[in-house]
Amino acid sequence: MSKYWSQLVKQTDPYVPGEQPSTSDVIKLNTNENPYPPSPEVTQAISRQLNDSLRLYPPPSVDDLRETIGDYYGVNKNQVFVGNGSDEVLAFSFMAFFDPGKPVMFPDITYSFYPVYARLFQLEARTVPLTDDFSIPVEPFFHAKGGVIFPNPNAPTGKYLNLEAIEQILIHNPDNVVIVDEAYIDFGGESAINLLDRYDQLLVIQTMSKSRSLAGLRVGYALGRNNLIEGLNRIKNSFNSYTIDRLAIAGARASFQDEAYFQKTRAKIIRTRNRVTDELKQLGFNVIDSQANFIFITHSGVNAGQLYQQLKANNIYVRYFDRPRINHYLRVSIGTDEEMDIFLNQLKNVL
Ligand code: PMP
Repeated sequence: MSKYWSQLVKQTDPYVPGEQPSTSDVIKLNTNENPYPPSPEVTQAISRQLNDSLRLYPPPSVDDLRETIGDYYGVNKNQVFVGNGSDEVLAFSFMAFFDPGKPVMFPDITYSFYPVYARLFQLEARTVPLTDDFSIPVEPFFHAKGGVIFPNPNAPTGKYLNLEAIEQILIHNPDNVVIVDEAYIDFGGESAINLLDRYDQLLVIQTMSKSRSLAGLRVGYALGRNNLIEGLNRIKNSFNSYTIDRLAIAGARASFQDEAYFQKTRAKIIRTRNRVTDELKQLGFNVIDSQANFIFITHSGVNAGQLYQQLKANNIYVRYFDRPRINHYLRVSIGTDEEMDIFLNQLKNVL
């Protein structure tokens, strides 16, 4: 490895994703995947590609998918950028819009890839502590001296910031790119896409990994004014002229074309989340109010690290973050009703 990069990655602790156990008999509530399969239309579209055109390169500009996404959200395809999962779109955005010498501002606690990208791209990170109830405080973002990024809902808390608050942040940051990472927006919140008309410094990033059950396909996208999208394209084209593969393009398009399935599965997850929240509260858990497909929970009578281990020993995987302020909490993705019942029964056994 070159000296330059080996120095850089040495000082960057890489992001550590949740465990992906190889056995299928585990109840996997640790990486916020969707418990339901993608729309059958997606599988059919992918099989058609398998037969037709894998020998061909994919279209580098992904025009068809960008048009599908644009039509879905009511924007022009030139306002859409597509990447290999939103992690890649986020990495390109850090490169395209945040400058060394100007601190990038994000909440602490938040998605742990942000500090990794900040270090890798040698950006100063200015973090804003969450309030006591784990909300993102808005006012400190009015004084940002560089770019701003936060997830909405936030991870791993699931707490949602309303559009009035986001608009205030935008009003106070006319010259800074403000990125809203909406990985979980389809589970309850209102998207900042509705603000794109008014704020040309706003970039909204979404993913097909959660509400659309396509984590394995790796498709994320950004929506914003043409000049921001152009910036992302220039970065992308300096790495790899082909954006995503033909299977991903076909599957992603089919997903957007099956609205009924999307609405049905996301409503199911929201229902399950609300039911499980109520039941956990009855068991004495404190459950942070979540608008995502996961819940962040703690119990005064239980050690979260031990509970994580006990659940794991029973083939139930949840996420435990061993870091100050949140080491009493577990993050639990919302699975099927059957999976959540097994989880709840297991908790009753150990409480
Ligand atoms: N943003 C947030 C807040 C996330 O939690 C995740 C998932 N870990 C991502 C982005 C990345 O998702 P993906 O790369 O699968 O699109």
